[in-house]
Amino acid sequence: MAADLEFACSCGAVKGVCRDAGGRMGIRVVCYCADCQAFAYFLGRADDYLDAAGGTDIYQTPPSRLEITKGLDRIKQVAVSPGGMQRFYAACCMTPLANTIPARNLPFAGTFVRNYDAARRAETFGPPVSAVFVNYAQGEPVTKSRIATPFLVLDLMRRAAREWLSGKSRKNVYLDAADEGRIDAPQRLTADERARLDAMAVRT
Ligand SMILES: [Zn+2]
Ligand SMILES: [Zn+2]
Repeated sequence: MAADLEFACSCGAVKGVCRDAGGRMGIRVVCYCADCQAFAYFLGRADDYLDAAGGTDIYQTPPSRLEITKGLDRIKQVAVSPGGMQRFYAACCMTPLANTIPARNLPFAGTFVRNYDAARRAETFGPPVSAVFVNYAQGEPVTKSRIATPFLVLDLMRRAAREWLSGKSRKNVYLDAADEGRIDAPQRLTADERARLDAMAVRT
């Protein structure tokens, strides 16, 4: 069931809303990619945001649906790998907020299920439908890959096409604020900094 769903950083200084969350314009997946793991360790929040195998519980939706209602000035961004996503976080309490594609041609944002209204997120999103990048999991993935990647890409393109047709595809509160200088340019991790995070992510 689609509904507006509020999200917040852990300390509450940053707040926002996802319009029409749930329904067919978003998908909940667990991402085991190395960049998502590095991001959680960069923030010092691996215990809160990664499952036992290093997976991040993500709600993917077009960025036009996201609004920041409070605390935009607390938001920073980091690039954990060259050419990777732009990753936004609340610097007040090091809460991950959104991963988005720098170019606006493909409307995509990954948001963090844990940040959403705890009383309503489970019924709004339903359980994760699949897992992605499971080959980067630390051991046996907690959430299994149930939908082949090409079908997930097709679903992403279906959502993107709706955005292109609606004319809202370039709207992105995070990239807009960065372009306006209200969010600083991303911190870019050096190879050494990244290697340290990858070493932390390894679970034996
Ligand atoms: Zn905070
Ligand atoms: Zn990922």
